[in-house]
Amino acid sequence: MNHPSVSLTNLRRRYGDREALRGVTLDVDAGSIFGLLGPNGSGKTTLFRILATLLTPTDGTALIGGFDVVRERAAVRRKIGVVFQQPSLDHKLTVRENLMHQGHLYGLRGPALRERGDRLLARFGVADRARDRVETLSGGLMRRIELAKGLLHRPEVLILDEPSTGLDPGARRELMDYLHELRQADGMTVLLTTHLLDEADRCDRLAILDDGKVVGIDTPARLKSAIGGDVIRVHARRPTEFATKVTDRFGCAAEILDGIVQIECADGVGFVAKLAAAFPREFDSLSVGKPTLEDVFLRLTGHRFAVEGGGATDAAGERA
Ligand code: ADP
Ligand code: MG
Repeated sequence: MNHPSVSLTNLRRRYGDREALRGVTLDVDAGSIFGLLGPNGSGKTTLFRILATLLTPTDGTALIGGFDVVRERAAVRRKIGVVFQQPSLDHKLTVRENLMHQGHLYGLRGPALRERGDRLLARFGVADRARDRVETLSGGLMRRIELAKGLLHRPEVLILDEPSTGLDPGARRELMDYLHELRQADGMTVLLTTHLLDEADRCDRLAILDDGKVVGIDTPARLKSAIGGDVIRVHARRPTEFATKVTDRFGCAAEILDGIVQIECADGVGFVAKLAAAFPREFDSLSVGKPTLEDVFLRLTGHRFAVEGGGATDAAGERA
């Protein structure tokens, strides 16, 4: 890890009255996988589109490999490989034809282009599908072709907007494996957006985005360890009263988040026993666990990591 490969300073973007990015400042180390974790509407795609040079910021600066995404757009475009959330392959064409078209856009051609494409297909385990139409591939395989397409011109930085949209958990893990391999073998810098906690957990560093602002930035491990030992969640009959009693009796902080009393403490199992003994009739259930990124998000924002439908998620179910 050395110089920053992507550097954002006070980046803002407004759509009419609505400010989608409200002063984002962060650096991404070269040769690392950086995740931008945020719920729907937090500004991920807006940030992605600014980095992809498709949208101009209202204020602030974004540099990729030292080049400004507004003033040095052409240079930035050579530096970056882009994988959109919406599939961008032509389904009626073969895999290889898709790659050839993309290569032509970057001024690559002939045998060199074909060889580069085939090498990438081999790397992603889809060499045998080169002559197949894209429409015959599974979602996971299509994603790998998208990845190959984004890498054809040998970019230094790969940016992906919610790359695992629509993929099942197995295909999601595979995709992350490939990203890790690219970073390990090629020193590629990867910046991805996600609303999936398990995917965020596999990034080297993470910025947590909420309502257009970075509310936390660190390695996933450090973000979680900042919470302390264990997290106890109590479904109490009267949450406010219960939280006050816990604080009075044990001297520890108890917060209420979405109606659930949440207590952070060093020895969760021991504390659960004490709680149950002290207040046997005042709760319906309680659980103890290690902090997750969900807990980190709760702590940093005071609200849950909600997606459409309102529930917390790290499940695969989402729009196609
Ligand atoms: P995410 O990708 O995290 O879901 P977006 O960047 O798409 O978030 O959106 C951030 C906010 O900006 C949302 O409130 C969204 O409604 C708003 N927004 C996004 N694109 C537009 C647009 N073209 N016009 C107006 N508002 C927009
Ligand atoms: Mg988005």
